[in-house]
This record gives sequence, C-alpha cells and structure tokens, in this order.
Amino acid sequence: MASLYFKFAAMNSGKSTQLLQAHYNYAERGMYPVAMTAALDNRAGAGTIASRLGIKSPALTFAAETDIFAEIKTLHAKKRIDALLIDEAQFLSHAQVRQCAALVDDLGIPVLCYGLKTDFMGRLFAGSEALLCLADNIEEIKALCWCGRKATMTARIVDGKMVSEGDQVAIGGNDLYTSLCRKHFLRGQPAANVQSEVA
Ligand SMILES: [Zn+2]
Repeated sequence: MASLYFKFAAMNSGKSTQLLQAHYNYAERGMYPVAMTAALDNRAGAGTIASRLGIKSPALTFAAETDIFAEIKTLHAKKRIDALLIDEAQFLSHAQVRQCAALVDDLGIPVLCYGLKTDFMGRLFAGSEALLCLADNIEEIKALCWCGRKATMTARIVDGKMVSEGDQVAIGGNDLYTSLCRKHFLRGQPAANVQSEVA
C-alpha cells in the first residue's frame, strides 16, 4: 500500500540529503522516482535539489498554481512512477497536499514530503499543517542546537541577531537561518556567545 509521508525537521537537519538518498535507493533498485521542489527555492538553480554534503539532483518544481495531481498523473501515464519525493514541502498549499494524498489513494504512488515544520516565528507552515493532518506516516529528522539539545525550531538571523518579525519566506544561505532547541529559540539566543535578551 502506498502512503503519504511527512518527514519534518528544523533547518540544517539534512532533509535534502535524506531525500536524495531515498531517490538514489529507488533508482538503484531499477525503479523510477520523481523529485520535486519549490519553484521559489533557487539556491541551487531552478529545478535542482542540492544537499549541503554536495550531492545534487535535477527536480521538477511546484509553484502556487501547480496542480501536482494533474502533472504527476500525466507523467505517470507515460512512464510508471514508483515514488514522488518533494523537498521544501512546507511551501505546499492545503490543496496541493490533498493532491498528493490523491496520488497515493487513487494512483497508488507513494509520496514522500520533506520540509520544515515551523517558520522563524515558531508557527506552522501551511504545507506542514496540512501534512501533519493528512500524512499516514510522520517522522522527525533530528537537527542539533548549538547547545547539543535536539533543535526543533528554526530562527532567522539578521546581522547576527534573531528576528521575530518579517515575511514568512526569505530563503537564503545557511547564514540566514539556524536551528535551535526550544529553550534557546524562546530566549532569543542563536549562539553560545550571544547574550539572552529575555531573562
Ligand atoms: Zn539550545
């Protein structure tokens, strides 16, 4: 039975690396996996999933208006797809997550979604909210805070300081975001040498 998976974490947990590993595993077994990522993520150039370890793979992209069910159904009719792997899944809309569920339920294609759970303000992304509600399997990928605790939050850093206001999406390099444990996220301490601004 195909399933809808949500593998979530904070920033810099190696989500893209895990996605690329899964993609490799399918291909190695002679199967046909399709990778997809958010069109607004152009860190690695359009239509590429890149891991910080240096591996990369071409990928389809989804934008706000993409009908993922229709697009994958068309490809599937030409060549049988064994799995759909989606990076940056936090950027899916509720409708697109339902489209992913339909790929699983109607076409029997496993869909593996990798993404952040919460934004830099500590709130659920739309795609993550829908996936937490609808996914058959939910798995946390571990990331570490500078203190060594499990990082569950993602902080946005501007000029070395954590910010708590701004647009939800401002994708950039590793210097813009860091993963923190809840304690250091709530205290506003993005690094060991930064004084807490909250007692
Ligand atoms: Zn910490």
